[in-house]
Amino acid sequence: MAILVTGGAGYIGSHTVKLLKEKNYDLIVFDNLVYGHQDIAEKLNAKLIVGDLGDRPLLDKLFQDHNIEAVIHFAAYAYVEESMQNPAKYYQNNVAFTLNLLEAMESAQVRKMVFSSTSATYGMPTTIPIPETHAQNPINTYGYTKLVIEQMLADFQRAYNWEYVAFRYFNAAGADPDGIIGEDHNPETHLIPLIIHTALGKRDSITIFGEDYDTPDGTCIRDYIHVTDLAQAHLLGLEYLLKGGKSEIFNLGNGCGFSVKEVIEATKKVTNIDFKVNKGDRRAGDPPMLVASSDKAHKILHWQPKYPEIETIIQHAWQWHQQRHGHR
Ligand code: UDP
Repeated sequence: MAILVTGGAGYIGSHTVKLLKEKNYDLIVFDNLVYGHQDIAEKLNAKLIVGDLGDRPLLDKLFQDHNIEAVIHFAAYAYVEESMQNPAKYYQNNVAFTLNLLEAMESAQVRKMVFSSTSATYGMPTTIPIPETHAQNPINTYGYTKLVIEQMLADFQRAYNWEYVAFRYFNAAGADPDGIIGEDHNPETHLIPLIIHTALGKRDSITIFGEDYDTPDGTCIRDYIHVTDLAQAHLLGLEYLLKGGKSEIFNLGNGCGFSVKEVIEATKKVTNIDFKVNKGDRRAGDPPMLVASSDKAHKILHWQPKYPEIETIIQHAWQWHQQRHGHR
């Protein structure tokens, strides 16, 4: 029996593939390599099929050729700003292609999925920490595409007896502690890698998007969670489903928040490099504070983050970026 991992050459996908391989799972990675990296999939020594989830004949063949027990579905476009400018691209790739995958699974009678959702499905939170029961009113197209998929899974569960685990990630960050794989987005828009690029001298400065929020230091607060801890949750979610667990949705975060200024200061400390910081305007659609309650994942999956410290998250990201992009 094998596990299909869509988007397994991407950031969170590749870290999950690494853990699953260490547990000796038989894996097939499916990735279109638009944002995933072939060299990362090769480093992990995983069987890679390059293709689009819109290609139904390819999916049907894959399910015929392999005895797939469950699917971990990471593949998606995830740039918030681009999703607002080009919603068609996001509904096509994230929603329509996922429907294609679900239909191919249903016709092959593969009815278990671990799905990558996002805290962006909550929109502007009214309570902190945010529980899974919080209302979902996304404020961007990316968040909507993930919410639609959550709904599709709920409907497939009801109608066709599927079981799924959906994870709503907060701010994924860091890199594999062994330094083999890490985060490499192009373009990069996330705070921690951008700060690290600045420390490495690949950028002149980092700009803080807004210092007038209603937070203690005026900058936005986020719940940063180590990518290896996210990967570990996927392993637990998969094992839960394989043991006959029922469909559940879980937040994945550390339950504590750090402001943009705190992350900048922590990076200066970890790297021992000073760099230029600019004041900028607010970025559209940024809630002041996003912090998760992950109690449900702790209770049901027995998930416990191994690297909750922001310095450790930054240290691992720093190690990876130094070897990927070189010293300054
Ligand atoms: N941010 C910033 N400068 C940057 C990139 C991000 O101040 O160059 C802020 C952003 O406004 C948000 C936080 O850092 O408050 C985390 O942003 P990121 O894009 O990493 O993740 P998001 O929370 O949007 O998923």
